[in-house]
Amino acid sequence: MARGKFITFEGIDGAGKTTHLNWFRERLEAQVEPAGHRVVMTREPGGTPLGETLRGILLNQPMDLETEALLMFAARREHLAQVIEPALSRGDWVLSDRFTDATFAYQGGGRGLPRDKLEALERWVQGGFQPDLTVLFDVPTGTASERRSAARAPDKFESESEAFFERTRSEYLRRAEESPQRFFIVDSTRSIDEIRKKLEEVVASI
Ligand code: ADP
Repeated sequence: MARGKFITFEGIDGAGKTTHLNWFRERLEAQVEPAGHRVVMTREPGGTPLGETLRGILLNQPMDLETEALLMFAARREHLAQVIEPALSRGDWVLSDRFTDATFAYQGGGRGLPRDKLEALERWVQGGFQPDLTVLFDVPTGTASERRSAARAPDKFESESEAFFERTRSEYLRRAEESPQRFFIVDSTRSIDEIRKKLEEVVASI
């Protein structure tokens, strides 16, 4: 069985990731299951029992910025070792709601942790490993905050300022510019139907 592929969904809170995740998983299953591949859906921070415990702490407790980045990467190491790497090796495809780009965007862009520290952690935890495809839901911060406030009560990150999300969005776009072959950027101001048409094309081309 050929090795599976690793797909990540990224974007600032309220951009629309969750709206498309289950739908995308179903489209992907329809595409890869006939060839004998399963689709594993997972998320970060989280995806393992330890990772989900760390998620609860990370999303709800204030902490030092470096502690926050280290815990994100600790949860990621566990996720890679327990879930992502074994799944890809047995030929499954993995779809993750966030991965390392989110740590660059939130802890780097949003909170200002120097990029070289994040790059060192990225090398340590994942070597040269990167997703095969990252779908970035991009939307102006004002639109995202309107969508968030209409939809739900905020967690620690979702309570951040407009300026924080501007920096987060910019860092996502910088990461996309750095690796254009890996990223597919969705203009998330479009309607849900229009976005799904684009995503259909993405799935068909994988
Ligand atoms: P995220 O997972 O990126 O934080 P969600 O998918 O939870 O964002 O979307 C936040 C809110 O915005 C939800 O209420 C959702 O219905 C709405 N929404 C998502 N995508 C669109 C869109 N393309 N147009 C209008 N509203 C949207």
